[in-house]
Amino acid sequence: MIDNTAYKIEVTKVAKSKINDVDFDNLGFGSVFTDHMLVCDYKDGAWSAPKITPYQPITLDPSARIFHYGQSIFEGLKAYKDAEDTVWLFRPLDNCKRLNISAKRLAIPELPEAYFMEGLKTLLRIDSQWVPKSEGSSLYVRPFMFATGEGFHASPSDQYKFIIACSPSGAYFSGKVKVLIEEKYSRSANGGVGFAKAAGNYAGQFYPTQLANKKGYQQVIWTDDNTHEYIEEAGAMNIFVRINDTLITTPISDRILDGITRKSIIDIAKEEGITVIVRKITVKELVGAANDGSLKEMFGAGTAAVVSPIAAFGYKDKDYDLPELENSYASFLKKRITDIQTNKTEDIFGWRYKV
Ligand SMILES: *Cc1c(COP(=O)(O)O)cnc(C)c1O
Repeated sequence: MIDNTAYKIEVTKVAKSKINDVDFDNLGFGSVFTDHMLVCDYKDGAWSAPKITPYQPITLDPSARIFHYGQSIFEGLKAYKDAEDTVWLFRPLDNCKRLNISAKRLAIPELPEAYFMEGLKTLLRIDSQWVPKSEGSSLYVRPFMFATGEGFHASPSDQYKFIIACSPSGAYFSGKVKVLIEEKYSRSANGGVGFAKAAGNYAGQFYPTQLANKKGYQQVIWTDDNTHEYIEEAGAMNIFVRINDTLITTPISDRILDGITRKSIIDIAKEEGITVIVRKITVKELVGAANDGSLKEMFGAGTAAVVSPIAAFGYKDKDYDLPELENSYASFLKKRITDIQTNKTEDIFGWRYKV
């Protein structure tokens, strides 16, 4: 057991901040980094207390296990600044818990919760000036963990690094996307690592997504690996489908990631009196609903874009367009969740977390 109180976070600050070199009006997503980062090392069977250092490259031996056997996991969350310059996170403990769920599946030692939470808070206080304030912008926070132990032996590493890096990001206007229902490739499989935020899950998605891109689709709708008859996720987002006035989302499983945006949207929609059903959705049902006009909306849900509306889906060389709606659930729910995240509205769920 680690005594959560008996440590001090060692802080080494930059000599000079680079914040004045940053164009906060043209941030884009994930390409500018703050002055500092948090680092924890695992060796001799224990995680060391977190340290905050200047943001800088890391040096690894060519035999480091991450390069060969892929023990690598990550998280993603956002920090927001309200009108009074108070910095808020959204359900960060859920990210911490999910990091450790991913860690366990990849045979990576779990990180003490206090290291994550206190480390994150300390880092954000030091780099609080970097949290952008303009509408739609936020500080994207990327905690990640990987194997640093040396040697080509195919076994779990005996050393790891946990880092939190942060990136001020602008409003994420992806627009509506056209998606392709995948009939050959799979993102995940029963008994696999689909429920974990494993780096390798993303590597496996890129090639099928490139093929879809060539056909004119921006994203892939993943289907179950066994029959390809059930829809599962929209790219790296959870999927929601609106048939008439009912909102449906697929149940989480071995293959489907337990998204924090997904579960927040379920709770908000229910609270707003929208009927929400968590059940499997077949491609056949989707095509049928598109044909008879009962399919009103489809959207992805995840931290980066929050809600990503779908304009059309392709299946077996045919495209099915979704209607343009005046009162879409996607835009309504996006506003409700971002208003809670940015402290513009009351948070009856207790999700907002003051930094
Ligand atoms: C991260 C992720 C999501 C979304 O999770 P959030 O907690 O809402 O950001 C959904 N699906 C996959 C595969 C993911 O990696």
